[in-house]
Amino acid sequence: MRVVVIGTGLAGLTSTALLSKAGHDVTALEQHEQIGGVTASLERGGYRWDWGQMLVPDFGPAEPARQILEELGVSDEVHAVAGYRENYFPDFRIQHPPECLRVYWQKDHFKKLFPEDAAGLDRYYEIYDRIHDVSSLLGGKGLTAKLRLWGKLLPIVRKKAWSAQQLMDSCFSGKELQAVFTAILADYVASPKVFPGLLIPVINAEGQCDERVPLQYGRHERRQSWTYIENGMGAIVNALAGAARARGADIRTGEAVTGVRVEAGRVAGVTTSSGAEYGADVVVASGGARELSEGLVGREHLPADFLQTHVAPLFTTESVFMLHLGVDCDPSIPQAVSDLCYHYLTHDIDESVRMCQDGVYHEGNDGKQARGREDPGRDAQGLTRDSHQVATATEHGTRPRVLRLTRVAVWCTQETGGRRCAPS
Ligand SMILES: Cc1cc2nc3c(=O)[nH]c(=O)nc-3n(C[C@H](O)[C@H](O)[C@H](O)COP(=O)(O)OP(=O)(O)OC[C@H]3O[C@@H](n4cnc5c(N)ncnc54)[C@H](O)[C@@H]3O)c2cc1C
Repeated sequence: MRVVVIGTGLAGLTSTALLSKAGHDVTALEQHEQIGGVTASLERGGYRWDWGQMLVPDFGPAEPARQILEELGVSDEVHAVAGYRENYFPDFRIQHPPECLRVYWQKDHFKKLFPEDAAGLDRYYEIYDRIHDVSSLLGGKGLTAKLRLWGKLLPIVRKKAWSAQQLMDSCFSGKELQAVFTAILADYVASPKVFPGLLIPVINAEGQCDERVPLQYGRHERRQSWTYIENGMGAIVNALAGAARARGADIRTGEAVTGVRVEAGRVAGVTTSSGAEYGADVVVASGGARELSEGLVGREHLPADFLQTHVAPLFTTESVFMLHLGVDCDPSIPQAVSDLCYHYLTHDIDESVRMCQDGVYHEGNDGKQARGREDPGRDAQGLTRDSHQVATATEHGTRPRVLRLTRVAVWCTQETGGRRCAPS
């Protein structure tokens, strides 16, 4: 079969490699000059950064992503490194304990910090376990698997339509503890009032970031492991692209697909920004689902109930602004306990997200000068860097620690007449 794959992120490259291995004639088209999508690594002047992911699931032994790499024969090119994420709030920190206590060490830690919400924490972790059990059981075959899935799902099914804020209000009394579980939404610039509540346990997956916490415990289904990738996420991109090309796939960059051709109700190929036409029996699309349906294919070619059921409810997040800084230092000398640390300057995630959406950014400690306001640091921001195992030697002779600031505000100082910018 002739297959056209739109996009070369993780989804597009995985499809390209697997379909090529299955013997199909595959062309992957990428609108950018570089492949990899969000997973691409960027190199400038000897420094290297990852654009998107920091910790990824499923690359542990026998897990799905690892199995795909093994099937493609490139597993030894992608080395998973255990790591942990810490969160700092203005008045408390969630830090990695020196010894692994037990699976629920975070719950115990929160109970000490917020004793008034001890019962709410039990309620939250009951939901947390159910959601993670459901995720592991999804796709299971056979009656027993389906019965187990429904057994886990039924007690929480009525919370299906809850927002993250509703879930938080049902468990915790104060903004501080609510912020612990909703702060990551600042990454998506998504308000807790609109983000789906039952996804909160998914995006706050815990013990798996700590290799000392077992992935399988008690009566629970096996959890996923989350890891860094040695030498950066681009290693995954290179492995998948190499596997695809070795089997004859044609991966083209600078080719934006502008339309999916439909003839007699079936896909016939795609057209691109360069005016080229690619015939195809199958088109695999990995860009935005809404853009694909409403833009590239066109509503007129899709059933109304499909558009209503699957396209209309799609939840889209905002774009994020990131500043990548290259820093000369020796990454083999640990400079903090954790490899990845998020600093939040607020407990009010909803307000921070709203300010960010309105274009009002954190103004640093010199807010008066920048905007005539005196309150410093109201916005949530994350300061992150990758582990020393991830950073690599460069032509500088020194090795850069990869450093990434998310949601950082940049303002131009008055002294320089707006010519120079300093990150807050
Ligand atoms: C800042 C950030 C941090 C993240 N951190 C994490 C993390 O730590 N852990 C984690 O698990 N996940 C994380 N994610 C989410 C994760 O990166 C994504 O879920 C995943 O990379 C999506 O892969 P994809 O292939 O579906 O999409 P993408 O990587 O977006 O790839 C889509 C590709 O399609 C191309 N494309 C789109 N339309 C067209 C077109 N018309 N023609 C040609 N090409 C087209 C795009 O250019 C792009 O290359 C993060 C995401 C972001 C943005």
